[in-house]
Amino acid sequence: MSWHPHLWHPTTQVATSPEPLPVRAARGCELELADGRRVIDAISSWWVTLHGHGEPAIAAAIARQAQQLEQVIFANFSHQPAEQLATRLSHLIGLERLFFSDNGSTAVEVALKIAWQWWHNQGDSERRRLIAFEGAYHGDTFGAMALGERSLFTAAYEPLLFEVARVPWPHTHWHDDDVEAREASALASLEAALRIPTAAVILEPLIQGAAGMRLVRPAFVRAVAERVQAAGALLIADEVMTGFGRTGALFACQRAGIRPDLMALSKGLTGGFLPMGVTMASERLHQGFISATTPTHTFFHGHSFTANPLGCAAALASLDLLQANPPRYQDFESRHRPLLEELSALPAVQHPRCAGTMAAFELAIGEASYLNPVGKQLQRLCLEQGVYLRPLGDVVYLLPPLCISDSQLERCYAAIAEGIGRLPAG
Ligand code: PMP
Repeated sequence: MSWHPHLWHPTTQVATSPEPLPVRAARGCELELADGRRVIDAISSWWVTLHGHGEPAIAAAIARQAQQLEQVIFANFSHQPAEQLATRLSHLIGLERLFFSDNGSTAVEVALKIAWQWWHNQGDSERRRLIAFEGAYHGDTFGAMALGERSLFTAAYEPLLFEVARVPWPHTHWHDDDVEAREASALASLEAALRIPTAAVILEPLIQGAAGMRLVRPAFVRAVAERVQAAGALLIADEVMTGFGRTGALFACQRAGIRPDLMALSKGLTGGFLPMGVTMASERLHQGFISATTPTHTFFHGHSFTANPLGCAAALASLDLLQANPPRYQDFESRHRPLLEELSALPAVQHPRCAGTMAAFELAIGEASYLNPVGKQLQRLCLEQGVYLRPLGDVVYLLPPLCISDSQLERCYAAIAEGIGRLPAG
């Protein structure tokens, strides 16, 4: 196979990347390549495949829904799958309103626009500050990019990105002995930033994903929420990656014990079958958009595919599966732990950490950077052994679908250990 003459792949530098692998099918946690090889999808295809590829209950729910109602304009119309999903997620999350969009970036954009316009509708022109964390990643559209850390990914657009105040993210790992001091200093910086009237603070609760699976302690997330609430600002939780059991609780906010004002969800929402995003908002915020006399109080945002019934049906079937078997995600961390402990005996494996279905470490070979090629070398070596990883620079992580068996998980760790042994300085 060679590069297709009419396709443009995401986040891919054609001049230096290997050609994409042709996939013809996928089942459970395995991808079946065109040449018949099977590869374990150890990162759930960019963290979306929740239960497993081809999960029959979700495939059947989508097929049933497609026979009934495939799509309808969601301004002026409503339908049962959307209503059921809104009711279930509201009860599970404790935020009363659900606004649909199409992906993680748009779910964040919607959260940001609701937060910003809510203050505007209140007649408050003072609260203009936005606060985010160092290393944050919230998506690739402009608002989401602006909220995220400035990086290689955003450099070309710098003049177009609005200003955001940034606070340190005191990430931690096993055997970390100065985390308390770093947390205290991050909280002091947050308090200082909040002295300027602030519209909203956004964070990825518990795990910053794209920054390199950077974990903070639940108590830190709680302390952030307390500071934000004390300052009267709105708190946006970006649970695009962490939602739906990924951190061991149904939502990371629950593991941390916080209730944000807004929450962005996507990826695992439909079990990873269909693109859909949702933004959950409190009733208090929703009320701020209701006015019979002021048309500009309306939330003027709506995507063509808002509340796509197929996506809703997939999401409902996925929730059924999650709720039928909570230990499947609650106990995942205890499956990673002994394997990661064993792996961390290798000198190249630094800063191991895990939470829920996510386990990560840094490869202590070369510089600690997204541009360190060592991750890509390990990716190639693991692929040769039938395990697909996609390290973030020097950060190697696993985030497999929930259906992965013990022996498949062991194969992932064994492939990493073997791959590290074959790296130039491993
Ligand atoms: N927020 C977070 C925390 C994410 O991890 C991502 C995607 N990796 C996004 C937002 C953007 O989601 P999408 O790629 O679906 O636009």
